[in-house]
Amino acid sequence: MTDHGSLLDKALGAYLGLALGDALGATVEFMTPREIKHRFAAQGGVHRHIVGGGWLKLAPGQVTDDTTMSLALGEALLRGQSLGRPFDTQLIAEAFLAWWRGKPVDCGNTCRRGILRFLQQGSLSGEPNDGDAGNGALMRNLPVALATLGDDAAFERVSLAQAHVTHHHPLSDAAVLGIGQLLRDLLSGVDAAAQARRIEAFVAAQPTFAFRPYPGRASGYVVDTVQTVLHCFASHTDFEAGVTAAVNLGDDADTTGALVGMLAGARCGAQALPGRWLGRLSRTVVRDITDQASALVALSLDRQSLPLPS
Ligand code: MG
Ligand code: MG
Repeated sequence: MTDHGSLLDKALGAYLGLALGDALGATVEFMTPREIKHRFAAQGGVHRHIVGGGWLKLAPGQVTDDTTMSLALGEALLRGQSLGRPFDTQLIAEAFLAWWRGKPVDCGNTCRRGILRFLQQGSLSGEPNDGDAGNGALMRNLPVALATLGDDAAFERVSLAQAHVTHHHPLSDAAVLGIGQLLRDLLSGVDAAAQARRIEAFVAAQPTFAFRPYPGRASGYVVDTVQTVLHCFASHTDFEAGVTAAVNLGDDADTTGALVGMLAGARCGAQALPGRWLGRLSRTVVRDITDQASALVALSLDRQSLPLPS
């Protein structure tokens, strides 16, 4: 594979991996590990098939807000590029509002509050808020990483801008940047030792996120989410094993599954994703993700060939 082909394979692997983890995990969102074991006793006590259902009563292969908000954000980035308004936060907030008006299958409380604040006040960022330490900004940041390859400053600026439309909290910010930087490393193809160094450096700088020994909570609180994601990602080199481990911890299983899927998918590439899962994923979602992943990578490559703005 050429370097460009390999980058596209990793970008698509990350995006499809996110959707696979979301679709698998949504079945068991808000369940406890014990309830999951009991419910799936007939298959060894492990939930491992994309079957839909769950509290949202999804069709098999349907995804939730984790994937659809990511797609909304990615669309906004591409639209900004085509309008000559690159990385315009106004366009991002408008895309979140349009997403919400489209009656998504679910929407977290903090996301809803931020979107309504934008609707009513035109505000692109709330004040820092103790209640904003959920994982809603983290779960959707993948398109920013794909659109800012090779430009760390733009990655940080746009990641925080999109995050603050709904979530303004230092732990959310740290998670968005830390997981995003690990994702960028994986997209660039760094080896296992460099991945481990990146994770160690993140935890050393932000000890709240230390995950060894694993505390065992998989909630939507961004610290619990990041600890679960890093624990499952670092403990399993196989995509399917890592995502399965995450979702079987229950609680915010669609989001932990999505984020492990994103990281593990970037590590292995789209060609190594499990075919039996991909075959169940909504065809519309696969098409939208495939189109968007290549368009976002192309946006990054275009930007890199341009002179830096003064
Ligand atoms: Mg969700
Ligand atoms: Mg969730």
